[in-house]
Amino acid sequence: MNSQDFPILGQQIHGHRLAYLDNAATTQKPQQVIDSISYAYSHFNANIHRATHTLATIATEHHEHARQTVAGFINARNAKEIVFTKGTTDAINTAAFTIGETLSEGDEVIVSAMEHHSNLVPWQMLCQRKKLKLRVAPLKDDLTLDTAQLYKLFNSRTKVLSIAHVSNVLGIANPIEKIVKEAHKNNIIVLIDAAQSIPHLPVDVQKIDCDFLAFSAHKIYGPTGIGVLYGKQEILEQLPPYQGGGEMINHVSFENTTYNTLPYKFEAGTPDFIGSYAFGKALEYVENIGMENIAEHERNLCRLVERQLKEKFNNIKIYAEGIEKSGVISFNILRNDGSLIHPYDIAMLLDQQGVAVRSGHHCAEPLINLLGVVGTVRVSFGLYNEENDINQLIAALSKSVDILS
Ligand code: PLP
Repeated sequence: MNSQDFPILGQQIHGHRLAYLDNAATTQKPQQVIDSISYAYSHFNANIHRATHTLATIATEHHEHARQTVAGFINARNAKEIVFTKGTTDAINTAAFTIGETLSEGDEVIVSAMEHHSNLVPWQMLCQRKKLKLRVAPLKDDLTLDTAQLYKLFNSRTKVLSIAHVSNVLGIANPIEKIVKEAHKNNIIVLIDAAQSIPHLPVDVQKIDCDFLAFSAHKIYGPTGIGVLYGKQEILEQLPPYQGGGEMINHVSFENTTYNTLPYKFEAGTPDFIGSYAFGKALEYVENIGMENIAEHERNLCRLVERQLKEKFNNIKIYAEGIEKSGVISFNILRNDGSLIHPYDIAMLLDQQGVAVRSGHHCAEPLINLLGVVGTVRVSFGLYNEENDINQLIAALSKSVDILS
């Protein structure tokens, strides 16, 4: 699917064709997005919102147009609900801080056992700062979320539930619409970490009915350094700002400061207006292909790779085996004596054969500890991956396992 649009994929790595299978970490950029950054710096580089000169007006229009594009992409009610951040991590930190300002000692926050550190540590920090209780929803033996246990954690002190849409280790999706419905019955605010769903699945915030949703541009073919915190307007309006300075103010005196309207109240400092332009181009690019088409393509790749891994390797442990995956699959391979081949060694040898995968704890150490291993090998797909990437992976993995066994 359109791999010719991605110049980096035409490279050779160690004399081999590049099979880039580390898309969960970051995606490659199409020429249209790369060119848009050059175009922006060449044609309308001027700080936004402040000046009256023409370049600044054009830059501001592009930035606000990108906000509209993002709002349309996730079906937000309006663009005021789109706060530009540095990425998912920054978005979750923003939400944790500002929501946290409204919570009191003894209140409870829930995360799940499959969270990325970016959706765990900010809440842990908040709980320490405000003396709240952090509770963790467990997984079932098949590694899916134990929703029955999650709902048992809900009580009158539960104020926030922050949970991944798709796990960055397991690739499986949580039933977030149902979870949001149950949480709302208990007046719990729900944040969805959509870092790994936004590139792989259609995401509709009105359908999900989440209160907040966070994601990064670089994981959906856009630039690094920019992301989004979506928040329902009526909730964002009630919350205090996160950082001070720049466009987040209305009036400032030494005695007092009043704050700007949404979404600017949450956007301190010069926004990444070059990044937002390129981000908009990335979203237009995927919209042209269609998120449903991308989702179907990547589900098929996941099914194919899971089948081939099982067929080719006797001693393989695939995590969340047999459960539908969206773009991400993790596994380990054992030697005949039952010892684990270190995922790092596998990733190193694959790299020598042009195959880029991730190994380690994938910033989800508590989940990896739960799996009882030092890490996993993680293969993750993008829209440009094809069957030949899987063939190259399987051939390179066979060689690597022979060497390491
Ligand atoms: N949440 C999940 C599920 C992720 O996979 C990642 C990145 O891998 C993040 C959060 C953090 O994203 P970023 O580093 O772009 O802030």
